[in-house]
Parts: sequence; C-alpha cells; structure tokens
Amino acid sequence: MTPVRETAEVAIVGAGIVGIAVAHALATRHGIRDVVLVEEGEPMGLTSAQSGENYRNWWPHPVMREFTDLSTGLMEAIARTTGNRIRLTRRGYVLVTRDPRPAGLLAELEAGYAGAGAGLIRLHEGAGAAYRPGEEAGWEAVPDGVDVLLGQALVRRHFPHLAPDAAAILHIRRAGDLSGQALGQYMLETLREAGGRLRRARVIAIEPGPPFRIATEAPDGTRAGIAARVLVNAAGPFIGRIAAMLGETLPVRNVLQQKLAFEDRAGVIPRDMAFTIDLDPQSLPWTAEERALLAADPATAALAQPMPGGIHCRPEGGPGGRWIKLGWAYNHAAAEPVRAPALLPHFPDIVLRAASRLHPGVAAYVGRLPRAATHYGGFYTMTEENWPLVGPMRCPGAYVAGALSGFGTMAACAAGALLADRIAGAALPALAAALSPERQADAALMAALRGQAAKGVL
Ligand SMILES: Cc1cc2nc3c(=O)[nH]c(=O)nc-3n(C[C@H](O)[C@H](O)[C@H](O)COP(=O)(O)OP(=O)(O)OC[C@H]3O[C@@H](n4cnc5c(N)ncnc54)[C@H](O)[C@@H]3O)c2cc1C
Repeated sequence: MTPVRETAEVAIVGAGIVGIAVAHALATRHGIRDVVLVEEGEPMGLTSAQSGENYRNWWPHPVMREFTDLSTGLMEAIARTTGNRIRLTRRGYVLVTRDPRPAGLLAELEAGYAGAGAGLIRLHEGAGAAYRPGEEAGWEAVPDGVDVLLGQALVRRHFPHLAPDAAAILHIRRAGDLSGQALGQYMLETLREAGGRLRRARVIAIEPGPPFRIATEAPDGTRAGIAARVLVNAAGPFIGRIAAMLGETLPVRNVLQQKLAFEDRAGVIPRDMAFTIDLDPQSLPWTAEERALLAADPATAALAQPMPGGIHCRPEGGPGGRWIKLGWAYNHAAAEPVRAPALLPHFPDIVLRAASRLHPGVAAYVGRLPRAATHYGGFYTMTEENWPLVGPMRCPGAYVAGALSGFGTMAACAAGALLADRIAGAALPALAAALSPERQADAALMAALRGQAAKGVL
C-alpha cells in the first residue's frame, strides 16, 4: 500500500457539486473542518459542468418534493447572503400539454404536493381567471405551488408564443434556474476559508477502515496515501467504481443525456420565457423515406417510433443574451461511464424537430444550426426509482452521496446537509432514511417506487 502522507477526519472522493456540498455542510453546519476533497480533474468539471442548472419542486412523490424544497431553501439562504451571486431566478417551470383536462397530471400534482400545505394547486379557467405569470416583484414574492391553466384560450392569452394546440399549462412556481458553477465556487471558497483542502489526484485504491487508507495518484504520476476516519464516495458517474474498491456494489446505472445550445439569431424564443417543457409524447415528423431508413437500422429504429414527452427549452444568458438551450432525456440505455462520452451525432437534429412542435419557430434551425452551436452531455447516474443514494454504505465509516441523476445541481445543498448531519451524529429528518441506501431494506417502499408510472426523470 502507498505510504500515508496525509491524514484527515473526512476524505471525500469527487469535487463535483455534490462532494463540494457535503464538504461545505460539514464545515458550516458542524465545524468539521479537517476535510479533504480528492478530485481527479477540475472541481465542478465533469457532470456538474454539463448541468442545465434548472431547479424545481415538482415531483411525483412528496419525499423528492421535500428534498428539493429543502435544497431550494438552502440555496435561497446563500442567494440572500451573497447578493444573489448564484443568480437564482424564479420564472418557474411551464409544463405544457395538448390535453385540456389532464387528469393524470393533476393527480400526480396532488400526490407530489401532499403534505406541503393547503392551496398549492390553483386551477384557472375561463376569461376572468386570475393568474399572474411573472417574477416582477422578485423571486422571494413568487407563490409556491402550481398554477394550472385550463383551455386553449387562456393558455393563448398568457403564452401566445406557444403552438396554438397547447391546451393546458401547469406552471410550477418554486422553480427556475441558477448558476450551478457559481454555487460550487462559493461553497468551495467558504470551505477553503474554513480550512478544508482540495487535492488534485485520482483515487486508485482504498483499504477499508476506519481509518480508511486511500491510495491516490497525482496528474504527474506521484502516488500518495491519505488516512481518513470517514470516507465519502461522491464520485458522480464513478460511484460504482469507488464502491467496488470497498468490495461493495451500488444499485446504479449511467445513462447518457445531451443538450444543445445555440444562438437564436432569428429570435424565435422570447427572452423572458420560463423553462418550458412539452409533456406530450410525439412521433417525429420524418418523411416516409426518412422513417423507413431509421426503422431499418437497429441503432435508430426507436426514433421512427412514438417518442416520450419531456422536450425542454429555455433562453440562456438573461434578457440581454441571445442563446437558447434545448434538452430531451429520451435515452434510457445504460452505459459504462467514461469521462468524455461519445455524443449521438443525430441528437441536435432530433431535439430541434421535437421542440418545433411546441415552438414552431425552432423549425427554422433544422438543418441550419448556427456554426457555433454546442452539443454536449454527460451521465445521469441513477437508481431504478430515480431517488438518490445519500447515506451509509455497508462498510462502517463509509458513506455515499450520489445517484443524483438529472437533479444534482438543485439537490446538492440538501444532499450535503443530510449527509453532514448524519456524519456529525445530528438528528435526521424522516426523509433521510428514504433517500439513503437504507431504503432498500424497506420492501414495501421499494415496490411502491418501482411501480410508479412517473419517476420525475427530465
Ligand atoms: C445533460 C445534463 C443536464 C442536467 N441538467 C440538470 C439540471 O437542469 N438541474 C439539475 O439539478 N441537475 C442537472 N443535471 C444533473 C447534475 O448535473 C448532476 O446530478 C450533478 O452534476 C452530479 O454531481 P456529482 O458531484 O455527483 O458528480 P460529478 O459532477 O460528476 O462529480 C464527481 C467528481 O468525482 C471525480 N472523480 C470520479 N472518480 C474519481 C476518482 N477515482 N478519484 C478522484 N476523483 C474522482 C470526478 O472527476 C468528478 O469531478 C444534469 C446532468 C446532465 C448530464
């Protein structure tokens, strides 16, 4: 084993948004400052750099709603004390369907907001409906809950830029976007001021502890050991590999998801548009010849079939900017994680065509994307139920903070707080057990989660 050169109370593998949030919470909530973050690349440089940086409290299950509410409260506190350095906005999520009576979606809202208080689901219908969409009074004045607009005429009145067949809107209000990079940077700075450290090295082996003996290799090949009483596995897509070093397996898979960003030169998306999601499944508008070609190749056959909903679009860079971002988490195929995944070359074309259904102006870019467009992506590291793993591993003293799928930016602060509280031996809220690997022992909960039709993947 590599000789030990450094000791720490807590060693955290991975300085993505989640590892940083755990370290930050240990220092700021519990005064645990002897913390070392071991990071192979740049902090915030892997999955955390690919995030769409959106947040919401819309979930099919109240535990996930509570989890993201907790995180949003922690982000708000940071926004307040830093003069909103993290650029938290609150335009909401605008969910759109062509179903004028979306009973299933309304039932899902009722389930997700259960226990959150009265009056959170507000139905609006008809000419005199009282609904105010903006955040003019500032994000702190925006109401929580959801405004549901029913009927094409009402939708058209407030959202004239959408395709005319949009028939109902669910406007999730405690939602918006933020700069995840600024959040990570702020927490890292606070951690450093408190005495926390960052080591640029790859963890290559771990001898179970406590104390854990962690073998690392620096970019110049230098090997060194770190001894730590507590080990936190926050290695993003590689949490499975770190677990394997301890002889454990985690119930996770990695699924590549992609985004497309480009300059909206034709100005087809209003600059003040909220993060807008087309919830309806659709068959992409291929010509008969294109459809036949796609169907003939097993690698593309699914694209010729009806596709799931969830195409999302939002302006990027504020009112003065010109860029827009499109995304669609339609891929479900598990893959071996790598640091630089190969992107699917047809993704830009697919997402443009799909987004054109709700935003007809976007069709102008099919086959004519501005040259500076960026197509990027990373892995959703996820459990089957799409709940995270934030809690103890089997080896005493080892913890995991991972599997934050497509919600790691929005939920990192809560994941950090829950894990830091647990490591410090503080009292934990009920949701802590449900969000940790411990839930796997709860057969009834796991069966209910696996049976859920919607899992909140976006
Ligand atoms: C396309 C896309 C869009 C997304 N959009 C959103 C969104 O809108 N809102 C939202 O909330 N979330 C979003 N997410 C999810 C979010 O980005 C992730 O959940 C989050 O970034 C995960 O953070 P992490 O710290 O767990 O992982 P990472 O950011 O991957 O960090 C893990 C770190 O561990 C390091 N590491 C791994 N192995 C080792 C080792 N052996 N030794 C040392 N270091 C190691 C890695 O280098 C890496 O820096 C999106 C994700 C993707 C891919």
